[in-house]
Amino acid sequence: MKFLGNIKINSKIEVINGLHIGAGNETLEIGGLDNPVIRNPKTREPYIPGSSLKGKMRFLTEWAKGELNEDDITKVHSCKRADCSVCRIFGTLDKVNDNNKQRGITRLIVRDATLDGKFRPEEMLEIKYSTAIDRSTGAALGKSLRNIERVVPGVMFSSEFIYRVFDLDDNGEIDMKNFRTVVEAMKLLENDTLGGSGSRGCGKIAFRYIKVDGELYSGEYKSVDELLSAIDSGEIK
Ligand SMILES: [Zn+2]
Repeated sequence: MKFLGNIKINSKIEVINGLHIGAGNETLEIGGLDNPVIRNPKTREPYIPGSSLKGKMRFLTEWAKGELNEDDITKVHSCKRADCSVCRIFGTLDKVNDNNKQRGITRLIVRDATLDGKFRPEEMLEIKYSTAIDRSTGAALGKSLRNIERVVPGVMFSSEFIYRVFDLDDNGEIDMKNFRTVVEAMKLLENDTLGGSGSRGCGKIAFRYIKVDGELYSGEYKSVDELLSAIDSGEIK
C-alpha cells in the first residue's frame, strides 16, 4: 500500500437558514440561554466542529449506500469488508483483521470550520423562539416553549477536508472512485440539515467557493454540482 497524495478541499460553508450546533448543557452559563451554540472558548466565536460535519456526512452516506448497521439501526455502521467505501472513507471502530487490513487508514480528515470574517455577536447570532400550537384552533399560543441560539443566514465558515489517496495495488483507482463519494456526501449534506432543529427550519447550508488542491489535481468550483460534473466529465480522474 503506497501513499499517492492528499487532495485538499477548501470551501466556504454558507448558512442558508439558522444554524444551531449545540454546546451541550455542561457549558450552560448562569442567566444564559437554554440552547447556546458551540463556541471557541478563547475567541467566543461560533464554529462548526469537524466531528459534526463528518458525522452527518457519514450518516447520510450510510443511508445513501444502504449501509446502515444491520444489527442496530441506531448505531454507527461497521463491517469487515475490505472494499467498504463507508469504512474506508470515514473510518471504523473495528479492529484490524485479515478482512479489513487492506482498507488502510481513514481517508477523510474534516477540520473544524471557523468563522469567515469578523462579526459583532448581534450580527451573526439570533435567538429563535418556538411556541406551542393550540390543537383545537391551530392558533399559536403566545407562550414560548423553548429558545435556541442560531447563527444567522449569510454567515460563512471556512472549511477544510483532507482526502488521502493510497495505491492498494490499483494505482489509487478505488480511492479516487471513493473521492466522488466524499463529494456526493457534501451534496447529501446540502440537501439535508446540519446541527439541531433540522425539522424545525434550521441547518440548511451550502458549500461555496470550492477549491480542490493537491498533488493529484487542482481546480476551483462554484458549487458541489460543478465539482461533481468535473469529476464525471473526466476532468478529475
Ligand atoms: Zn463498512
